[in-house]
Amino acid sequence: MRDTWPLLKDSDFPAIRRDRITTLQLNLGYLCNIACLHCHVAAGPNRTELMDRQTMVEALAVAEKFEVKTLDLTGGSPEMNPHFRWLVEQAREQGLHVMDRLNPTIMEEPGYEWVGEFLAEHRVEAIASLPCYSAENVDAQRGNGVFEASIKALQTLNGLGYGDSETGLVLNLVYNPMGPSLPPPQGTLEADYKRFLHDQFGIRFNQLFTITNMPIKRFGSILLSKGQFEEYMDLLRNAYQPANLKGVMCRELISVDYRGRLHDCDFNQMLELNLGESDGPVELSDLLQTGQLPRRIHVANHCYGCTAGQGSSCGGALSD
Ligand code: SF4
Ligand code: SF4
Repeated sequence: MRDTWPLLKDSDFPAIRRDRITTLQLNLGYLCNIACLHCHVAAGPNRTELMDRQTMVEALAVAEKFEVKTLDLTGGSPEMNPHFRWLVEQAREQGLHVMDRLNPTIMEEPGYEWVGEFLAEHRVEAIASLPCYSAENVDAQRGNGVFEASIKALQTLNGLGYGDSETGLVLNLVYNPMGPSLPPPQGTLEADYKRFLHDQFGIRFNQLFTITNMPIKRFGSILLSKGQFEEYMDLLRNAYQPANLKGVMCRELISVDYRGRLHDCDFNQMLELNLGESDGPVELSDLLQTGQLPRRIHVANHCYGCTAGQGSSCGGALSD
């Protein structure tokens, strides 16, 4: 895989500062049952990196110390971490809101039949990736059969009460473009998704989050090999909207990798950029000892992916 970091690091992206953190985003590991083309984590079935129980204990302690409200679980497929259920149970007992960035196809894999019921029982917010409502496009980006498996899983979640205002169980979907383009307006696309998925498959959900593809890792490498990297960076830069700076997710979130190392966001984690531009790795245990979070955030050219057009964060558009 070709690395885009040398092309990203010399940057004129404006400095930003961290506010009070509300969310701890834990990457439980890079193991996933599928290997999508756009994946900025380069996750897949052969990855072995997984967060251990002790790191989770420290993460819960940091959440308590910093009075964080939300634990945002991501991966890979977070449910493939053998301690996933333990972590969710502990977090809920601690009063945390838990979000699971769910690749819905995992629910159709043998051995993972428990996922839907478990999430519903613990009132976990499900954020499911479905990069298009066309079977052809989804299978092209994520692999054959992924669309069908995703639809079945979403129907299962609906059957458990997800996406239903009476139960309050929240199901949000995530869209990202197929290639080097910006996402369409989030509100318009959400209306299209709702109409199509309901009419064709009886599926209901709460919100659609549109997310811009980042020019790093697997997606960045594809851009380089197709000679599209510069063009995509120009697209992101030319669409820069300063108003989006105030909503970028790194202001209120810190990202923790499977080893317990801290980063300003999930993208910086993938680029192995230390929290707040520190010289060496900062770990959960450091935070527990010092109680100090640096206000500085490590920015570079990939940050234009968060501020282009309507903006992009793990909660979708910033200014739709
Ligand atoms: S489902 Fe998510 S984590 Fe897994 S390969 Fe696809 S984008 Fe990456
Ligand atoms: S890429 Fe990360 S550090 Fe840069 S603006 Fe986006 S969230 Fe912040």
